[in-house]
Amino acid sequence: MTIGVWVLGDQLWAGQSALQSCGCSTVPPGGNRQPTPVIFIESLHHAQELPYHLQKLVLLWSAMRHFADELRQDGWDVTYKQGIDFKTPLLAWIEQHQIIELRVMTPTDRPFAKLIEQLDLPCKITLTPSNRFIWNDQDLISWANSRKRLVMEDFYREGRRRFNVLMEGDQPIAGRWNFDKENRKPPKGKLNLPEALWFQPDQMTQEVIDWVRASPEFKDSQDYWSIEPFQWGVTRQQALQVLEFFIQTRLSEFGPYQDAMVTGEQTMWHAMLSPYLNLGLLHPLEVLEAAEQAYYQNQTEWELNSVEGFVRQILGWREYMHCIYLHMGEDYPSSNYFNHTQPLPGFYFTGDTKMNCLHQVLTQVKETGYAHHIQRLMVLSNFGLIAGVSPQELQDWFHAAFVDGYDWVMQTNVIGMGQFADGGLMASKPYAASANYINNMSDYCKHCAYDRRDRTGENACPFNFFYWDFLDRHQDKLKKNHRMGQIMFNLARFSDEERQLIRDMQLDAAAQVLRRLQAVKRPG
Ligand code: FAD
Ligand code: SF4
Repeated sequence: MTIGVWVLGDQLWAGQSALQSCGCSTVPPGGNRQPTPVIFIESLHHAQELPYHLQKLVLLWSAMRHFADELRQDGWDVTYKQGIDFKTPLLAWIEQHQIIELRVMTPTDRPFAKLIEQLDLPCKITLTPSNRFIWNDQDLISWANSRKRLVMEDFYREGRRRFNVLMEGDQPIAGRWNFDKENRKPPKGKLNLPEALWFQPDQMTQEVIDWVRASPEFKDSQDYWSIEPFQWGVTRQQALQVLEFFIQTRLSEFGPYQDAMVTGEQTMWHAMLSPYLNLGLLHPLEVLEAAEQAYYQNQTEWELNSVEGFVRQILGWREYMHCIYLHMGEDYPSSNYFNHTQPLPGFYFTGDTKMNCLHQVLTQVKETGYAHHIQRLMVLSNFGLIAGVSPQELQDWFHAAFVDGYDWVMQTNVIGMGQFADGGLMASKPYAASANYINNMSDYCKHCAYDRRDRTGENACPFNFFYWDFLDRHQDKLKKNHRMGQIMFNLARFSDEERQLIRDMQLDAAAQVLRRLQAVKRPG
């Protein structure tokens, strides 16, 4: 009787439940000890479902290949296959190893779980419970079912208590749960920004780069995404180095400038840990413990707002997003509260726009597949929202463009948080903003062809007229939201003439975007 394990691309650590459930060798009844068969599959069909960033493909496949090698060295019987689909290599491997039970850790992404359900393999399939998050799935579902409103702050406090993080008895350390107010400093004056930790590709990674570059399947994407310099870590060892580097050089200053954006500074004090966490190279609990321990060791010099701010990201936002994903039904990704249907502007793929904020962030995404949270939320997603872009088109773009993008984290962040397309199930108001916000939190407006102060006129910043027109277009829905009261009051003071002018500018800009969109050839 042979049990085999299929390791999925975002389950790359030895402690994952399917590997753990077998051990690296087993003794069949009456037989000798045998190494457990394990399979990894790179599916070309799956990789072509969206026009993925080339660095995302390289990161995933190189990390899989490295992890497969590590398991081999630890005594597992590893098969590594590349195929069009998943089924053909699986069938051959099952037959070769006479596998009667296939174990897979339950996939986090729903479409992948469905794909496995429909595989129709000639052996039993056992899904082992996922152990990749801090909360287990059952507890998350129970928490969500027990609430009328799924408020992140409530969830976060429950997590702090439950896992005893930064607590003194049943109270938060220093008597406060939340330091958000201290963590919104604009980037004024001279900032001493830390360096990021990047890596040179080793031979295995270089082979993947060369292969992806030469593959006709990904030819179109080469006009849009840079494949080199490829500088991401691809092993657990490197991921641990990034964690250590973050704790040593950034954590103590993480908080105050969390929302700030500076030209040419890709990462500020952000951790750059999401690609590694989402592949399974790091576990969120070890990240959390490392941050908390560093705080207690440096308590006399470090401010609590930075460490609390980081803990809030990992134990709060990340786990909460997973909770929402588990709780919401299958139709969640098609939510469209504002009925937005504009196509995604072609410049999301090229970076070619006169709007400097978008140009800067899109160019960075092209080069690295990464942008930090506020760049994603208040530049890329904000523009989509106020310009009325289809949430589903925007989500597909985010999914393709970001090295850390997966279904579970994309839907909640783009559909829910960024686009308010779920009508406010998780966000208490839409994250919509004019140039005022971007000017306050960045230096982008200083170098822009548009005037951040103008709402109308030839040089008016598009964020302004799209923003005010968004409020005007949707005032029936937005007036009901008590957090929008002041801004809707401000809108009511605009003259009819100004509203009409803003509407015309918005319509004209939207038509221009459409015209340009038709001129841009998109990948995929
Ligand atoms: P830091 O700012 O240093 O934060 C530390 C960690 O906290 C991150 O590594 C991440 O694991 C976690 N975290 C913080 N906020 C969130 C959140 N809202 N959701 C999930 N985890 C969070 N995150 C992804 O992992 N994948 C995505 O595809 C993704 N898409 C996003 C799209 C939009 C529109 C928005 C607004 C946010 C998105 N996020 C996504 C969340 C967040 O922006 C990234 O996790 C973060 O920018 C990653 O960079 P970092 O590791 O330097 O994060
Ligand atoms: Fe962006 Fe407008 Fe500022 Fe230009 S002026 S950088 S378009 S917000």
